[in-house]
Amino acid sequence: MTDSRKGLILINTGPGKGKTTAALGTALRAVGNGMRVLVLQFLKGSWHYGELDAVLPFGDNFVLKQMGRGFVKVGGAETDPEDIRLVEEAWAEARVAIESGDWDLVVLDEINYAISYGMLDPAAVADTLRNRPEMVHVILTGRNAHPLLVEIADTVTEMREVKHAYQKGILAQRGIEF
Ligand code: ATP
Ligand code: MG
Repeated sequence: MTDSRKGLILINTGPGKGKTTAALGTALRAVGNGMRVLVLQFLKGSWHYGELDAVLPFGDNFVLKQMGRGFVKVGGAETDPEDIRLVEEAWAEARVAIESGDWDLVVLDEINYAISYGMLDPAAVADTLRNRPEMVHVILTGRNAHPLLVEIADTVTEMREVKHAYQKGILAQRGIEF
């Protein structure tokens, strides 16, 4: 083996906390290795997360964008066409970013929700991932990862909930949840 470097597909899924956090941790690790990282956050947009400001000093080497507006209403006729439009826009940007080879790591945060809500075709995502430039790493997060994507992924981690502060009535804490 002369060159052991290889672009990986990773999935962080499951009901426990830590899917996005782990992806951001990996992103930090990659940036520290001189790699260029793009994080596209599907569905998110209503909350101001600390990571939006934290990446700014990294400039073009670590770009993080919210592509939604939060609080998505889902289920058949209830799905707002505007949310679907935003998911399509996010996916279009994600696809171009992956295919460009300009980014060493692309994080598709919460994309699993968009797929499980029926807002995005898992086959289209799988197709882009399969045909991506060889060295590009991609991380997908969110509960209920689609089996088609789990199958093509290299590393899949399921966060298991042991307990969560929310169950004691403790609301989301700054710096931990957002
Ligand atoms: P985080 O962004 O904190 O890593 P996550 O990506 O694993 O969380 P999401 O499904 O994206 O989880 O939900 C994000 C928000 O929901 C966070 O504020 C998180 O604390 C909260 N959350 C995650 N898991 C649970 C849970 N099991 N019970 C209640 N709230 C949760
Ligand atoms: Mg998340």
